[in-house]
Amino acid sequence: MKPDPSRIEPWLDSRFQCSCGQEHRIPLREVAISSGALRLVPEYCAKEAFSRVLLVVDSRTLDAAGRRLKELFSEHTRQEAPICVLADNELGEVAADEQAIVQVLLDMPPQTQAIIAVGSGTIHDIVRFVCYKTGCDFISVPTAPSVDGFSSVGAPLLIQGFKQTIPACAPSAIFADLDILTKAPQTMVAAGFADMLGKFTSLADWELGRILFGEHYCSTAAEMTRRALNLCIDHIEGIRNRSALGIQKLMEGLILSGISMLMVGNSRPASGAEHHLSHYWEMKFIQQRRKALLHGAKVGAAAVLMAGLYESIALLTEDEVQERVTTRLEQKTYPTEEQDRHRIQQAYGKIADQVLRENFPQGRSAFPPIEDIQPHLVGSWDRILSTAQQVPSPAQMTAWLQTVGGPATPEQLEISPLLVDEALDNAMFVRNRFTILRLNRIIR
Ligand SMILES: [Zn+2]
Ligand SMILES: [Zn+2]
Repeated sequence: MKPDPSRIEPWLDSRFQCSCGQEHRIPLREVAISSGALRLVPEYCAKEAFSRVLLVVDSRTLDAAGRRLKELFSEHTRQEAPICVLADNELGEVAADEQAIVQVLLDMPPQTQAIIAVGSGTIHDIVRFVCYKTGCDFISVPTAPSVDGFSSVGAPLLIQGFKQTIPACAPSAIFADLDILTKAPQTMVAAGFADMLGKFTSLADWELGRILFGEHYCSTAAEMTRRALNLCIDHIEGIRNRSALGIQKLMEGLILSGISMLMVGNSRPASGAEHHLSHYWEMKFIQQRRKALLHGAKVGAAAVLMAGLYESIALLTEDEVQERVTTRLEQKTYPTEEQDRHRIQQAYGKIADQVLRENFPQGRSAFPPIEDIQPHLVGSWDRILSTAQQVPSPAQMTAWLQTVGGPATPEQLEISPLLVDEALDNAMFVRNRFTILRLNRIIR
């Protein structure tokens, strides 16, 4: 019998042959989401025989949990747990970049067995990478329910000023202490909720890839992501009030979403066009030396825009789609591969080569020409419509974001209309995945 996709526990440390044809392995061994979960960390380390651990914090998470965790280690194990306090950069924040990675390596005593990330997504990404390279065990102590990336494998790092997702490792255990998480700033709670709201569009995008290109699809992972999202919608009032139950459900949702990514070995269930827009904006902010926005905040505002695209395609009939594509093919208004290469070069500047490689693996486009897509697009239009109809309206998405006190428009994030338009045209190239942005380009 298949385990319940809305519970975490049955999936831990599991390996199984899935109906999607793949074998899934979930390396995450332990998850505790409870009041006082911080106290379980030294016990876990003792059980795993990790006698030499390093805590990694920044100046904010040192106060929120780092100092207390260090005390717990000396009380329970009579061992010193050294702390690496990551220094803020000139923008007053910690970035997952070379400076931070080197600082952890410098502060890491010889023969460290486990590194404990105490903080939000950025600190996790730094530690995840260092653990992967050094073979240390990676333990997660989130201090805010702000992203679903705690349990992910890839580390988005800033290398020479450019963001790249580098393979790294998942944590072996996550200790989410509700006493700490309920005190996280509301903006971070709202960002975590918004990251979850983006699953409406990421799941629909995955369906598009499955319908049009027979892309690998795992209904277990998709169902898990959907249940995780529903947990958050069902507890929206508790999340808004930062009640223990509300934050517990948000955290469960974020971790389940992370597990669904571990299951399929990539971020397809949880990251679609809304994430590509967010990554594009982030890249431009880095180029402009602007302070980073919360990942989930950008994803939420982008998900509203993508819900708008789904809403508009849901109005089209099969005949209209046929006619639009035929007319554009006759008028030759689709961009050529050459034009796309030029567009990528203009939009992505110094990372253009990397983006070109992503979009033209083996020198050719990852997608067939429009002429070849057209018959299947028209023939499967009813399935595409039912996928689009499952995405809530932008008005509903906005209302949910407003309920938790999160931004719902790029304007609220001080992202200019120009940058929004630029992202709508260029963000599809962030990954060679088929998304609503790519579909919209074909049928608009
Ligand atoms: Zn995300
Ligand atoms: Zn599967």
